[in-house]
Amino acid sequence: MKIGCPREIKPQEYRVGLTPNAAREAAAHGHEVIVETEAGAGAGFPDVDYEAAGARVAATAEEVFADAEMIVKVKEPQPVERRMLREGQVLFTYLHLAPDPEQTRDLMESGATCIAYETVTDDRGGLPLLAPMSEVAGKLAPQMGAWTLQKANGGRGVLMGGVPGVGPAQVVVIGGGVVGTHAARVAAGMGAEVTVLDKSLPRMRYLDDVFGGVFRTRYASAGNTAEMVAQADMVVGAVLIPGAAAPKLVSRAQLSEMKPGAAIVDVAIDQGGCFETSRPTTHEDPIYEVDGIMHYCVANMPGAVARTSTLALGNATMPFMLELADKGWRQACEDDPNLLNGLNVHAGQLTYHAVGRALGIDV
Ligand code: NAD
Repeated sequence: MKIGCPREIKPQEYRVGLTPNAAREAAAHGHEVIVETEAGAGAGFPDVDYEAAGARVAATAEEVFADAEMIVKVKEPQPVERRMLREGQVLFTYLHLAPDPEQTRDLMESGATCIAYETVTDDRGGLPLLAPMSEVAGKLAPQMGAWTLQKANGGRGVLMGGVPGVGPAQVVVIGGGVVGTHAARVAAGMGAEVTVLDKSLPRMRYLDDVFGGVFRTRYASAGNTAEMVAQADMVVGAVLIPGAAAPKLVSRAQLSEMKPGAAIVDVAIDQGGCFETSRPTTHEDPIYEVDGIMHYCVANMPGAVARTSTLALGNATMPFMLELADKGWRQACEDDPNLLNGLNVHAGQLTYHAVGRALGIDV
């Protein structure tokens, strides 16, 4: 199969859909790989690495889209890319169609077969192509929060680990899933005192068994949440209710109970955020202040560490990409129900129920 990888054109997106290693594996499976020039530059992969891996470097995205039978990307296709998709072509990338009727309409009109990373599942019901980005965002959260806490950035001027004779920062993580666990581990590793709040008792049992000596857990009742947030130097928002907007767990009124200059890192901002005062920000202008509390609410945190994120995403997507290329999408989806769960659009039809419900389109 001819596999194409265009350069990402969404603003501030430096990741790339195929690493040179993935290109090498695909070539070893007998596939032809076409990569747009400079596609890997933002993640530290020059064209020569792809050529050494057996890929052909194309001068333009048009050439990649025209030649390839399957397009492998990171972000949802932008309008100019959607116009280049065609019937029978396979698109394998993040799509997030539910809040995006325009993209959904364009993909249906293209006639292409569109498989979304975010709805591919694993045998335990997890989302294996979403998890690596949650791991990255979770590990970044205390790093960005520590920076936000610095005085020059408007923060409290508190050092995460303290020093001998001076206590560490108090970090509260709301939501102990993939993001929350990684955030808690890193914050604890920086020397902070960390508490994770969650509503799921089985999840807290697991966290307590595995990380009992590293951080504490508490049940996320409204009362416990209010009490912990008031004592915190940093609060990380990491809740997820699958398929729904994040619940607002901290109100604006509660900010006045917090320590002045405390930092909020709302990782759940891509689902609307779990603080009433959260609004999406960008890597260029990541923090803002409300009632003396500093907010960091970057919606695409993994983009800050494009190389790590590209490698992590590539590890997770590669087996599925090879299945699709080796067998063709139809046979690959017949053989693997987890991959079939990724199918969102095919030949003009929307094929994913949750997206259909969200957009009022028959599936
Ligand atoms: P996850 O499903 O692994 O974990 C979510 C956790 O939240 C679960 O343990 C669940 O029990 C808990 N939870 C649900 N409702 C709660 C409540 N009311 N109070 C306390 N806990 C509650 O999800 P995840 O992969 O960790 O993702 C967390 C959020 O981070 C999601 O919104 C995801 O989209 C977002 N995310 C953002 C970025 C970014 O760049 N900003 C990157 C990756 C993930």
